[in-house]
Amino acid sequence: MARVLVAEKIADRGIDLLAEAGHDVEVREGLDPDQLLDAVAGAHALVVRSGTQVTASVLAAATDLVVVGRAGVGLDNVDVEAATERGVMVVNAPTSNILSVAEQAMGLLLAQARNIPQAHAALVAGRWERSRWEGVELYGKVLGIVGLGRAGSLVAQRAAAFGMRLVAYDPYVSVERARAMGAELRSLAEVFAEADFVTIHVPKTPETTGLVGRELLEKAKRGIRIVNTSRGGIVDEDALCDAIRSGAVGGAALDVFAAEPPGASPLFELDRVVVTPHLGASTEEAQDKAGVTIAEQVLLALAGDFVPFAVNLAASEVSETVRPFMRLSEQLGRLFACLHEGLPDRLEVEYRGEIAEHATGILTLCALKGLFAQAAEEPVSYVNVHQVAERRGLAVEAISAAASPFYKSLVTLRSGSHSVGGTLAGAGVRPEPRIVVLDDHTLEVPPAEHMLVVRNDDRAGMIGVVGMALGLAGISISSMAVGPSADGHSALMVLSTAGPVPSELVEHLRHSDGILGIHAVSLTP
Ligand code: NAD
Repeated sequence: MARVLVAEKIADRGIDLLAEAGHDVEVREGLDPDQLLDAVAGAHALVVRSGTQVTASVLAAATDLVVVGRAGVGLDNVDVEAATERGVMVVNAPTSNILSVAEQAMGLLLAQARNIPQAHAALVAGRWERSRWEGVELYGKVLGIVGLGRAGSLVAQRAAAFGMRLVAYDPYVSVERARAMGAELRSLAEVFAEADFVTIHVPKTPETTGLVGRELLEKAKRGIRIVNTSRGGIVDEDALCDAIRSGAVGGAALDVFAAEPPGASPLFELDRVVVTPHLGASTEEAQDKAGVTIAEQVLLALAGDFVPFAVNLAASEVSETVRPFMRLSEQLGRLFACLHEGLPDRLEVEYRGEIAEHATGILTLCALKGLFAQAAEEPVSYVNVHQVAERRGLAVEAISAAASPFYKSLVTLRSGSHSVGGTLAGAGVRPEPRIVVLDDHTLEVPPAEHMLVVRNDDRAGMIGVVGMALGLAGISISSMAVGPSADGHSALMVLSTAGPVPSELVEHLRHSDGILGIHAVSLTP
């Protein structure tokens, strides 16, 4: 059972999911920074929204922390770098508000086209201004979409249903993908020259800051209307204001501003401008989805499983072919550290066969995690494992090699004269992990909690020596595999035992005649 500190309001369903999984969920909203420092001590997970500053000091006080969950998208309030350094995973809920923001864009498009807020304000102030607020239809108009990602493509679907013709600018999307969304790709200038309405859905980056500026607006189709629900600063507000005043731009609808709150913007004086205070994600559904998603991600992190929305993980996707190899790769890492008796200064992780055709970054992380679990005292997780490797001077090289003649897929860790390799045996839903390479020996043995790896002279009676010693100590052998070396001079015995083999017994065997080397290995996950 883990302790989960929920420091801000999230959906009840999210809290229920955490509690139903058997965790101790403590909801403490409104903590001041000092109270937060006290409250995080001993917590394994911390869940926040945007109001809690998860600083380096908070992370330092939270010595048991495994994961920080941000129920929402932005991570401005979480020191991700400090979390990474401490091996704390940071997860967010990047897709929870996409539908809401797409609907907000559609709402603003219509509100701007039909002057709905202005007409409403006039009427409630006692003015019946029917001719003043005449609008335009969306039907048959060209909509330019800048940024055809998650939100942009949902807007494309919805605008198509209104009978709009779609053009788009997104240098990272293929012509085919855009066409599948009903949009023709254009340059940015062409989009602005052709469109009656433009809606912006790009992330804020150095490249997109000021993307819609004076020059672009001056060359745009006269009367163009602009909707921005992405981020403030992507549209240059001063240039937009001037272009609306001059009539070059027909109007705008903005949910986001360069400074928020924007104070008294000159844009607010223009009656062709519709504004909302960054409400794109503000729906019940988006908040619910964020709470539930974050609870799901936190549960995965606490269980030590792969977490798809972890932002500080060096591997972002895991295919169904790769996933079953994660545990095996970690076990190979542990086994390798035992055989090598500590850390090597370089490690090759080789992928062969079917698995080599997939993104295997996560498996390299798993192998390193196993290696460090055995050889390092500091807490190592998927998150900081590369930093730990770098700090300890371990150079890691992942290689995709040609198919193996013997195995459908093979993962091998190698450094100097040591190598360990594993595969999954058998088809079906639950293929069984097997260690198939140990140094220069081939064998087939399942990883187990208690194992003995014995290298001995290749002569008769050696199995008896080991078997007898274990038997006298009352330790039963659950399975055993023997593999000769390629040169035939030595043999390798790998045994799984029902319980741990005491170190005195390992030492006794080490000094027995014919035993060349012995390692007790524990492959608990
Ligand atoms: P996304 O990452 O799914 O899509 C962004 C798209 O922009 C991608 O297709 C990418 O290829 C494209 N892009 C990146 N750089 C570009 C460039 N220089 N020129 C043109 N295209 C470029 O993002 P999303 O989830 O669809 O979010 C879109 C925007 O909406 C983001 O800015 C996000 O912050 C914002 N957003 C706002 C609210 C709100 O409350 N108003 C809520 C959610 C998201």
